[in-house]
Amino acid sequence: MRVTAVAGGTGAAKLLRGLAACLAPGELTVIGNTGDDTEIWGLHVSPDLDTVTYALAGRLDVARGWGLAGETFRCLEAMGDLGAETWFNLGDRDLATHVQRTRALRAGAPLSAVTAELARRLGVSARILPMSDDAVRTRVRTPDGWLTFQEYFVREKAQVEVRAVEYAGADAARPAPGVLEAIAEAGLVVICPSNPVTSVGPVLAVPGIAAALGARRARVVAVSPIVGGAAVSGPAAALMRARGLDVSPLGVAAAYAPWLGTLVLDRRDAAHADALGRVGVRAIAADTLMTDPARERALARIVLEAA
Ligand code: GDP
Repeated sequence: MRVTAVAGGTGAAKLLRGLAACLAPGELTVIGNTGDDTEIWGLHVSPDLDTVTYALAGRLDVARGWGLAGETFRCLEAMGDLGAETWFNLGDRDLATHVQRTRALRAGAPLSAVTAELARRLGVSARILPMSDDAVRTRVRTPDGWLTFQEYFVREKAQVEVRAVEYAGADAARPAPGVLEAIAEAGLVVICPSNPVTSVGPVLAVPGIAAALGARRARVVAVSPIVGGAAVSGPAAALMRARGLDVSPLGVAAAYAPWLGTLVLDRRDAAHADALGRVGVRAIAADTLMTDPARERALARIVLEAA
């Protein structure tokens, strides 16, 4: 069965590893968030695409949830000695990814081609597509003004009040080649347990993608990133509140209305199943905390069976 997954970073990486383990090579396509792409030291960094690529290549630092396993940070240290900003943790080997990406982009290659080549070189058999080749940048408004997503998330450690979120450039962005087809032709479309506002939100903001999902409603299955009234990790709860969404599976379903068909929610949230049914979303309760590879595969199987 062909499966297309919409993915952010660390939460998505776990389910994608599980899905890849259950599917034949080539059956999995990932549509990755590029709203949190940024420029560091003149290099184009795509944090979510890299997390997904490294995870599927078996090279992700699983404890941190980002970057390469066994990484060193000597260049970062040296940059600090030279007076450069060092709040964004670029590892020594990770740097090679960003140098190659930046070189290829400067030579005129679209991000989709660069992403495919990086994945191929790292031995990933899944197809990884950026949501768009055009720049879409998530920005967060705080009491002191607008921040880029990485300034908010990494530099400020998400410890500032968020008053608004926007996806700059989204209105004029086009889906990357293959994105709409991957949604239209999949037997199952999975929305990974990712931040609904800053990981899935930017993908949905690209004109055409939400409509494509709407045409496949019965085949769209999301996994809730909210468990027991809180995010498993990261600032999803604060960002959902800033958008007026309830921090619960119902809020996740509201963020994904009207095209969400099925929501896999955690067993401890099973009481929300009836309310989800009333808004037309089928609910499946499961153990959704992916704390080891066996649990990643078990959740992946539940998602696949939901189709
Ligand atoms: P980011 O770009 O690194 O923030 O990564 P994502 O957006 O992909 O993932 C963050 C979201 O995934 C957070 O809202 C977490 O609550 C959620 N998440 C992380 N791990 C798990 C897990 O094991 N199970 C579930 N259900 N959600 C998770």
